[in-house]
Amino acid sequence: MKNIYFTCGPSQLYPTVKSHLKTALDNNLGSISHRGQQFQNIYKSAQTNLRKLLSIPLSHKIFFLSSSLESMERIIENCVEKQSFHFVNGAFSHKFYQFAKLLKKSPVKHEVDWGEGYLLNKIKIPKRTELICITQNETSTGASIPLQDINQIKQNHNVLVAVDIVSSAPYVKFDFSKIDLVFFSVQKGFGLPAGLSILIVSDRAIKKSNYLEKKGVNMGSYHSFSSLLEKGRIFQTPETPNVLSIYLLNQVCKDMLNKGITTIRKAIDENSKLVFDFFDQHPKYKPFVNNPVFRSRTTIEINVRGEANKILKKLKSSGIVVSSGYGKFKDNHIRIANFPAHSKDNFHKLINVIGYN
Ligand SMILES: *Cc1c(COP(=O)(O)O)cnc(C)c1O
Repeated sequence: MKNIYFTCGPSQLYPTVKSHLKTALDNNLGSISHRGQQFQNIYKSAQTNLRKLLSIPLSHKIFFLSSSLESMERIIENCVEKQSFHFVNGAFSHKFYQFAKLLKKSPVKHEVDWGEGYLLNKIKIPKRTELICITQNETSTGASIPLQDINQIKQNHNVLVAVDIVSSAPYVKFDFSKIDLVFFSVQKGFGLPAGLSILIVSDRAIKKSNYLEKKGVNMGSYHSFSSLLEKGRIFQTPETPNVLSIYLLNQVCKDMLNKGITTIRKAIDENSKLVFDFFDQHPKYKPFVNNPVFRSRTTIEINVRGEANKILKKLKSSGIVVSSGYGKFKDNHIRIANFPAHSKDNFHKLINVIGYN
């Protein structure tokens, strides 16, 4: 039986992926050289369409990396000499902080309980901070930070800002002029197989990495910003990249542009309302994040009071797969992804199977 994957990543593939995959194989994309014209065209086109879809200005470069955990590591290596500042409210934001420690920096964190949000602009950030790190959508808890707060953070702090939008892209609509580093992986909202992360970097962040490099700070090897830039100028990557994934990303970006990003974002709003309304009225199961301001619309977390296993089994027998809670929430929570690949009909199906008792 074919399952419907409401998992938080990898997730349901975008409906057109199957036919794009076939075309890719028919065109030998698994065998072409990553130093030839055919690849350069794919690279160029993927960047152009991604720029269009997410309204990324020319002041920001786009890099192809292997995963978002890699993006976190590269950001710290290339933009921080000593001190970064981290907003932590779950597993992924904590990883970002931890990576800075492992890389021998001296990160500082503001930490709240899992499932809580924070008013970014009310928190005191130390003077020596070089980079502020924000996980906009914390996939481990279903808490997200309102975009207007992120857009305002530079008004109060004239430092670099990095934002993890791994499980909220392409839903979130950023003002890139207010942010320096943004990253996501393709296996979540873009509905593609895993193995590619996109890192978007401002001129200002590039300048910082140049400064650190001149100073002799260790910034890794083949994926330092300077080597990515050098190859990027000729539409290539330093290593042999995931050509297939870059190709598929380009095709799916084109499909999303044809559909219209506004339409896609509106559908996500409507589907999230459907799910939250259902659980707000449920006699037993409740949305985990109490404050609606901080509720993620793309990764919806429900407290099912110890019945996660029972629900997962029930859904599975109807061909529906959702995520269990993350880590310590495994038995008590379920997580439902709401990405562009998920249709309203399938949300109705999901809700009907869970039911009110
Ligand atoms: C999935 C996820 C990551 C990690 O992405 P990988 O591609 O597995 O490295 C990082 N941050 C958030 C918020 C995520 O949901």
